[in-house]
Amino acid sequence: MGVDPYNFVSALNCILAQRLVRMICANCKKPVHYADQMLTESGLKPEQYRDFIFYEGEGCLDCNGTGYRGRTAIQELLDLSDHIREMIIERRPTSEIKRAGHDEGMTFLRDSALEKVFGGITTLKEINKVTFIE
Ligand SMILES: [Zn+2]
Repeated sequence: MGVDPYNFVSALNCILAQRLVRMICANCKKPVHYADQMLTESGLKPEQYRDFIFYEGEGCLDCNGTGYRGRTAIQELLDLSDHIREMIIERRPTSEIKRAGHDEGMTFLRDSALEKVFGGITTLKEINKVTFIE
């Protein structure tokens, strides 16, 4: 856009990324367990989550058989500390900036999504469609 990166970064306080995920239908919500393969593919340790109670919607009239009703936002927030601003101005690789953000307490999209899965608000299948597994 012809903006000098130094001025651009100085004007920013934080960078927010957001996605919408479908919420499980309250009327047909039921507990489920996932097989080890599904857990592994989702980046979760089977020994830790094999007995965990996840939830899915079975599908009913209320949700037109989809098992989902309504949407909620998941987000990640990168606070631009002086250290991170410098990294952006120096055009350091994204992976490096992400790692620095994580060290400074940044919440990743995937973590925010998993929180909603563990809370029984959305499903593991749904978040696997919208977020990447690190
Ligand atoms: Zn339903």
